[in-house]
Amino acid sequence: MSFSSTIRTELGELPIKPLCCRRAFLYGLLYGARVEGDQITAEFSVTKDESYQPYEQAVYLIRTLFSRNAGVTHVSRGAHRYALVSFGFKKTADHLATLSELPEEEAECETLYRAFDFKCEDCAVHFLRGVFLACGTVNDPAKSYHLEIKLPTDGRVEPVRILMAEAGYEMGKINRGEKTGLFCKGGGTIQELLAYLGATSLVFDFFNAQIERSIRNDENRATNCVAENISRAIRSGARQFAAIEYLDEQNLLAALPDDLQFTARLRLNNPDITLSELAELHFPPISKSGLHHRLEKIMAFYEKNQKNSP
Ligand SMILES: [Zn+2]
Repeated sequence: MSFSSTIRTELGELPIKPLCCRRAFLYGLLYGARVEGDQITAEFSVTKDESYQPYEQAVYLIRTLFSRNAGVTHVSRGAHRYALVSFGFKKTADHLATLSELPEEEAECETLYRAFDFKCEDCAVHFLRGVFLACGTVNDPAKSYHLEIKLPTDGRVEPVRILMAEAGYEMGKINRGEKTGLFCKGGGTIQELLAYLGATSLVFDFFNAQIERSIRNDENRATNCVAENISRAIRSGARQFAAIEYLDEQNLLAALPDDLQFTARLRLNNPDITLSELAELHFPPISKSGLHHRLEKIMAFYEKNQKNSP
């Protein structure tokens, strides 16, 4: 299985619980797909060895969210495989048409959140994951660092770029003849972006490939950079833990909103578990990006209190 297929399969199989996030994922898939015809048909290019599962999921979502008929057809044209998802849901298609016409100056983050109907802090990441599944590829890190999102129309590039930037990923624009979209180079950023989208198990492969590659090419600088990334992650975890301990000692945890307080106490009681495990421990479980948000808020609260203390 190619690296790209493996990533896409992992991303396509992630469960999504909240209704708003499911819809955001579906919108992302449709936003990245070529949509044509009266009986709306969204065409997804499926890489060799890749499962059709994400597109079956699109059909399932259309059925459950909108109670409409939808079906998926598998087609091969030459060496290429396609999943054609067809559905009779005009409202979604009309909605997408207006979204794709958003003028650039109007496409601010808040406008987009409203236009895409995001309801919670995790909707954006599910939307972007859908977009990536519909039209994203990533090269095998053993060969080169390159991630690309080829969007079906020019007008859809800027909104996706803005949402990516809001999440902390600055992407470059592709302008090559008919191809239009976004790209990202550099091992560190691609790996973080994949982890953000939810391909966490493969990020370790990415780490390894990065280290092997840098050893092979004798790029000591790159190895240092990987080591620096790892130690930065450890340092930031230790800093967060120390901050929570401090807040606990000063009896300040109770001043946090309930959800943040819950997260802080979970971290305090489980100092050794990973962020994914910590996110899972929540009831109901929250996403890793949701957990990041909470930890950032706790850190902000800690820093504010540090400043205020004599
Ligand atoms: Zn949501």
